[in-house]
Amino acid sequence: MLDIFKHKDNLTTAPVEAGEDERQRLLALINSLTDAVIAVNRESLITLYNGAVLDLLNTNADLKSRYIDTVMPLVTEKDTIISLAELTGPQSGITKRDDLVYVTNEGNRVNIDLTISPIRTFNPKHPQGDGYILVMRDVTRSKSLDQQRDEFISVVSHELRTPLAIAEANISTALLPKFGPFKPETAELLNQAHKNAVFLADLIKDLTTLARAEQGNLLLDIKPVKPANLIESLASDYRAQAEAKGLKLIAQPNDLSPIETSEYRLREILQNFLVNALKYTPKGSITVGVTKSPTRDSGLVFSVKDTGIGISSSDKQHIFEKFYRSEDYRTRSTGGTGLGLYIAHKLAERLNGRIWFESKLNKGATFFLEVGDLNEPQT
Ligand code: ADP
Repeated sequence: MLDIFKHKDNLTTAPVEAGEDERQRLLALINSLTDAVIAVNRESLITLYNGAVLDLLNTNADLKSRYIDTVMPLVTEKDTIISLAELTGPQSGITKRDDLVYVTNEGNRVNIDLTISPIRTFNPKHPQGDGYILVMRDVTRSKSLDQQRDEFISVVSHELRTPLAIAEANISTALLPKFGPFKPETAELLNQAHKNAVFLADLIKDLTTLARAEQGNLLLDIKPVKPANLIESLASDYRAQAEAKGLKLIAQPNDLSPIETSEYRLREILQNFLVNALKYTPKGSITVGVTKSPTRDSGLVFSVKDTGIGISSSDKQHIFEKFYRSEDYRTRSTGGTGLGLYIAHKLAERLNGRIWFESKLNKGATFFLEVGDLNEPQT
């Protein structure tokens, strides 16, 4: 559709070069779309719109030549005012937003998924044909379903936690030598039951964190965190597990200034990196370290580097997806829910940070987390 617009400046209020028939055909085309489509010129004045826009705004008014921000005032989900005129500024390229809300006259909130694409006519005779096309979709229903799903997961996982913890504790108690000796078959059955109870408990813990992170109501206990202490403490928590697997765990704490953030959530993300490094490294070492961020004032970059199985090019684009696990038999032979990195990514967002990784198949992987001081204004 955009290709049509790009080359047809007859869709604007500019002098018309192509025939009226063609213009009518295009109007009929965009009118048949269920998405709201608005074209604006370089002055952010509306040059064209379809019926879905009128439905969305619940009006019959003529919107032609009106200023986009007056017609379509938008806010973010957190009620910060968003100017479409600014989003369609002279330097803007393609913009996509899924966090916008249009508040109707009656005060109803309509969640909007917006894509803005530039129209470039490359016609020096009619530069006024240039502008932007805005495509908006009402996603209120799917957002509300997402919220209901998150609430459901949150309640169910919370309710399942206690009975499962009791089952897990009882099986491990039953396995104590004082209750034995067991027949080998009985011990095997109990061990299997215990392993599965632990897996379920992990899955439920992940689901609880996931639902909270998606609902945006994760509690953050913000206080100064000394990066070197965190690195030392994480390394000592996982050293025994690493050594049991014949791996060397190296800590590279750097004496950097503390930052104000949630130590608990930071730890959760790094623990996730470390648990993965332990799972996916058959031999060699794991190095956990921290350096100053090259881009963010008072920012830190934590890293967990391993010498393990690495990540293939085809897996690279998927590993942050919910429930994704590589098809690699070496991954499949370890337990996992495929939720860890997705949650880590969500938690990093809550800390105004980001995570990424570098890896080559069979050459190990390094996962990074960049975070800054949560009490510092964002630039
Ligand atoms: P899980 O480990 O439970 O499968 P994650 O979301 O933590 O789930 O990881 C998703 C996938 O990313 C893993 O299944 C694995 O394929 C890949 N992966 C993550 N960390 C590493 C690593 N350090 N080395 C190799 N592959 C990794």
